[in-house]
Amino acid sequence: MKRLVPVLLLILVCGVALGGGSASAPSPASCKEPENHKLVVDRLLLYHDSGEYDREIRDVANSARDYLNARVKDAPKEDKLAAVFDIDETSLSNWDALADCGFCSFTVQVKLYSVAHDPAIIPTLELFNFAKSKGVALFFVTGRPEAARAVTIKSLNDAGYSGWTDLIMRPEGGKQEPARIFKSHQRQLITDKGYRIVLSIGDQASDLAGCCVERTFKLPNPFYLIE
Ligand SMILES: [Mg+2]
Repeated sequence: MKRLVPVLLLILVCGVALGGGSASAPSPASCKEPENHKLVVDRLLLYHDSGEYDREIRDVANSARDYLNARVKDAPKEDKLAAVFDIDETSLSNWDALADCGFCSFTVQVKLYSVAHDPAIIPTLELFNFAKSKGVALFFVTGRPEAARAVTIKSLNDAGYSGWTDLIMRPEGGKQEPARIFKSHQRQLITDKGYRIVLSIGDQASDLAGCCVERTFKLPNPFYLIE
């Protein structure tokens, strides 16, 4: 399938400032011809196909497991420990769809969410099951919309995830908060219910920013950006 322009190349073109409302004037240096799109796509494919992507995921998940193992041992019995998991490129992989369209993920995410074929990211599934074995309450907090709840549950179940306490998705309609605001707010609500969130894992910085987590674990994802 023809590869489309990746989201990565839509960012920071010609020195245009992100955020704050006003854009700075492009400078001649920043308007130089960027790296060719195909070369960027090829590098992303190589990063994945070489096995380096999987190795880095494994390293992060192992660190999370080691931390959790030690943290659970230290916890008073009355503490309600919780862990928060992102879904896409954290618990489930959209790799086939991403690579097939040249990493055009952000514009086709709704389509991705409608296809219940996403395999598990195995190191994350193992971390999830380890946390479950230790009695830690498990929460998914995802930017997927409520309309995708049924297909998301099917994907999670098919991939081997079970026994979570809650699956928190974006409500339909109204103003859509940035992910970093939405997810931080949801963690606050989990904490308000008496849980102590000891661990949060995600592939985006926006998964992990904000309140209410003792330790965060960032998985690699150079394929798209969600703020
Ligand atoms: Mg994600």
